[in-house]
Amino acid sequence: MSAEPPIYLDAHATTPVDPRVRQSMLPYFGERFGNASSRNHPYGWDAETAVDRAREQAAELIGCSPKEILWTSGATESDNLSLGGVVEAYRGRGDHLVTCVTEHPAVLDTARHLERRGLRVTYLPVDSSGLVDPDELRSALDDRTILVSIMLANNEVGTIQDVAALSAIVRESSPALVHTDAAQAIGKMPVDVERMGVDLLSMSGHKIHGPMGVGALYVRRRRPTVRLAPILHGGGQERGLRSGTLNVPGIVGMGRALEIAARERESEAARLQTLRDRLHEGLTGSLDGVRLNGHPERRLPNNLNVSFAGVEAESLIREVPGVAVSTGAACASASLDPSHVIRALGLGADRAHSSLRFGLHRFTTEEEIDRAIRMLVRAVRKLRG
Ligand SMILES: *Cc1c(COP(=O)(O)O)cnc(C)c1O
Repeated sequence: MSAEPPIYLDAHATTPVDPRVRQSMLPYFGERFGNASSRNHPYGWDAETAVDRAREQAAELIGCSPKEILWTSGATESDNLSLGGVVEAYRGRGDHLVTCVTEHPAVLDTARHLERRGLRVTYLPVDSSGLVDPDELRSALDDRTILVSIMLANNEVGTIQDVAALSAIVRESSPALVHTDAAQAIGKMPVDVERMGVDLLSMSGHKIHGPMGVGALYVRRRRPTVRLAPILHGGGQERGLRSGTLNVPGIVGMGRALEIAARERESEAARLQTLRDRLHEGLTGSLDGVRLNGHPERRLPNNLNVSFAGVEAESLIREVPGVAVSTGAACASASLDPSHVIRALGLGADRAHSSLRFGLHRFTTEEEIDRAIRMLVRAVRKLRG
């Protein structure tokens, strides 16, 4: 790395841990090392109290009861448990899952895995802005549908689905449960499980300035009571739904991150949106052929996904080492295939091969945005010239 570290604009891949979160975790790597399942001494009681407090912090943010929060290792596990756990628990009632083509691989690959084991899966298409058509959802449902899984906000183009409207459709015509992957939405927009009418909701610690390796799953307990078959078996932690010693430092950190998100979300989202718009206008103001991917309004305040006409995205990234940015999801960027999300928007191969995803975060500054614009404009001009 040169003297100046690259400007980090890849916040959909991960976010830097907030110093307040780090501070909250430190005692749990030290003297407060107890196992939250130890019932016979104060070390265990202290850990359990810390885990319960984090459960309250999570519940507060999404409007549920702390009893409805289950700790996991991340949104990947929360997604796997939602799909796999519901499918197994409701096998007697149905054999059909509905999801969408722009989901995260944690949902798509789980769906494909279940499909190989005999489940029927409908992958709903999206329009050119990334939205699911409510009528397509309505006609996909049948009396054997047991789960509908539609993400709240997309991790590549930032498009925000109208999950409340989609879940209302499910409720009026089907007994199916509704799951949403809210890993990117948490902390960036209001998330309320009652208002959205969802039964399961996935969260991740490291997307909200918390630690990696910890996540949560909201599981509805009333109207309806969601039944879930565990995918991990063992000590029976988390009411038997998720065995394994709880990651106490991680859970404490994620709880703190959720608490900060609840308190600062509104002002932070407004600030991020202003900076995001500044980045967008800075690029379109100096360059021709910059086109927005995703929805112009229904999008995450910290997301910008744009295509640069005539420029190969991989070459552009190599040309601006001073900006840490990506062409798409971190998990997919090892391959040169254009992102499945941009392809699903149906904008053509050129557009897909020339798209960059920017993700702004809590510590992004105006000075960084202005510097990033200058570097990007220079690089695009050079590559086009
Ligand atoms: C990052 C992400 C995940 C995976 O979360 P992990 O906690 O890293 O397992 C799942 N879904 C979405 C939308 C994400 O952005």
